[in-house]
Amino acid sequence: MPSFNLFLLPGDGIGPEVMAEVEKFIAWFNKQGIAKLETARGLVGGCAYDAHGKAISEEHMALAQSADAVLFGAVGGPKWDKVPYDVRPEAGLLRLRKDLGLFANLRPAICYPALADASSLKRNVVEGLDILIVRELTGGVYFGEPKTITDLGNGQKRGIDTQVYDTFEIERISRVAFDLARTRRNKVSSTEKRNVMKTGVLWNEVVTRIHAEEYKDVQLEHVLADNCAMQLVRWPKQYDVIVTDNLFGDVLSDVAAMLTGSLGMLPSASLGAPNAKTKRRKSLYEPVHGSAPDIAGTGAANPIAMIASFAMALRYSLGLGEWAGKLDAAISAVLAKGLRTKDIAGDQPANASTSQMGDAILKELKAAA
Ligand code: NAD
Repeated sequence: MPSFNLFLLPGDGIGPEVMAEVEKFIAWFNKQGIAKLETARGLVGGCAYDAHGKAISEEHMALAQSADAVLFGAVGGPKWDKVPYDVRPEAGLLRLRKDLGLFANLRPAICYPALADASSLKRNVVEGLDILIVRELTGGVYFGEPKTITDLGNGQKRGIDTQVYDTFEIERISRVAFDLARTRRNKVSSTEKRNVMKTGVLWNEVVTRIHAEEYKDVQLEHVLADNCAMQLVRWPKQYDVIVTDNLFGDVLSDVAAMLTGSLGMLPSASLGAPNAKTKRRKSLYEPVHGSAPDIAGTGAANPIAMIASFAMALRYSLGLGEWAGKLDAAISAVLAKGLRTKDIAGDQPANASTSQMGDAILKELKAAA
């Protein structure tokens, strides 16, 4: 039986509530003997600040480093709005991304047929949508130097951000995209602005070369980022995997996310480089949503984004892709039966709490096992 260490960081607000639902699945996987999933729990965000004055302790960073996968809930809330910048709740997440070298952010946009009417686009445009945005997460304009605001002394200031990409950064993110495409519909759409940006020219050149040298079996197209944004709301089903830089990925993944309805439905994965010996990648799985302080403690949180993030961990870190597929199918089946937490209930009253939604999905999974 395969054995893995999972490090759980539930965080703040609704984080612990949605993580509690994932723990039900972990317990069931262990009981069924599907895999041995050993768990440790840690503190991140506001709760970590309350406990030891840091957004994550060194001890818990070490546990994250040694884990096969980190499952992360959400951090933050009004209680910590005034804590010093360096130890604010989000600093815990940024530290994890940086120290684990999580350069590839994967955000699927899947539109479950039962929720197609919740999208702002027409049903036929989004129904059955299943695309994956692969965003470069540790480089580009968010990190490039110089990054300054200078007083020009004439009543004017100048703000500078620098977009920088080196060859190796583009090579490794494009390999992630091509590898993922091979497990899906075998198509990669590489997105940049080569018409006006030098980094776009280099991006295009490197992706083209990696494709020719290593991935000729995968279909590759190049799409300018502004056109990609337009195409995503015109006919998103033309895409399979979209690979793009940090800035365009930030924007395009939010556009794609909204095709599918609620924030409570969106999972994500962040992956690092494969270990030379074990071939395993460092990884962190988290829902896209935040700590939702407005509904924390009310039982109204939708646990699907967190449960679907766990499904991504099964697929990308634990080699249990078949079970990930079954779990995704269980989510779809529960939605098709009409179960709704408040965020996806539309004009109707909610008919499921956080734990009722988690229990119903587990019941479906058990039935399919
Ligand atoms: P949010 O994602 O927490 O909430 C936005 C809205 O969506 C709220 O109305 C909330 O009730 C709703 N919502 C979010 N997740 C839901 C779920 N699973 N089920 C049902 N409804 C859900 O964003 P926000 O309100 O801008 O931020 C709240 C706090 O979370 C802030 O402190 C912010 O800094 C933090 N935050 C953390 C992360 C993270 O941990 N990765 C991401 C975004 C925001």
